[in-house]
Amino acid sequence: MLCDTARAEVADCARRMLADRLTVATSGNVSVRCDDLIAITPSGVDYERMTPADVCVIDLDGRQVDGDLRPSVEVPMHTTVYRRFAAVAAVVHTHPLAATALSLVADELPAVHYMVALLGGPVPVVPYATYGSQELADASARGLDGRSAVLLQNHGATTVGETLQHAYTRSLYLEWLCQLHAQASALGEPHILPAEEIDLVAHKLQSYGQPSAGNPRADARE
Ligand code: 13P
Ligand code: ZN
Repeated sequence: MLCDTARAEVADCARRMLADRLTVATSGNVSVRCDDLIAITPSGVDYERMTPADVCVIDLDGRQVDGDLRPSVEVPMHTTVYRRFAAVAAVVHTHPLAATALSLVADELPAVHYMVALLGGPVPVVPYATYGSQELADASARGLDGRSAVLLQNHGATTVGETLQHAYTRSLYLEWLCQLHAQASALGEPHILPAEEIDLVAHKLQSYGQPSAGNPRADARE
């Protein structure tokens, strides 16, 4: 099977995304680069029953190369991001509650905690565009310039990474940060960390943890 390791990774991640409540029912989609192709979740398929064989393989222009099912409607978003950012090897698109709620009311997730450094700094909310559209794909790619996460107004969130594990961990942190922001805002006005501190933390995170522990930045030293 073409891209079999990537397909298995995508199917596993999609199941985790549902179990971790980063999305609802069949919403969201996941993809991984496999050489010059992309393994991507099929559209509207139950994650709990998704097998590696259900995962589609497309090229960077969005043409289907393998798989019997129809690929995600967000193919334009995934291919646009891969074409624009050569270092990105995985894209995770979710509909998590706190991140999506914030996208309804704000222009960005501010630096309410030092872990926004893992996402490249405050996370922008890009203007609403219809799901599956090239307009949404272009807005997402613009929002990801210099960042590894973006919030999609009245829709959800997208994170990227040099591996699927990195992209997925960023999705978990993004949702946690949005929950934190919401909870803090109910108590009062949150203190916001200065940009210099976020830059410093971003640098420190490159040597955080154990090189082999699979944390998002540990392999930056290798
Ligand atoms: P797909 O099931 O086609 O991937 O669409 C879900 C989604 O999140 C659209 O934005
Ligand atoms: Zn979506």
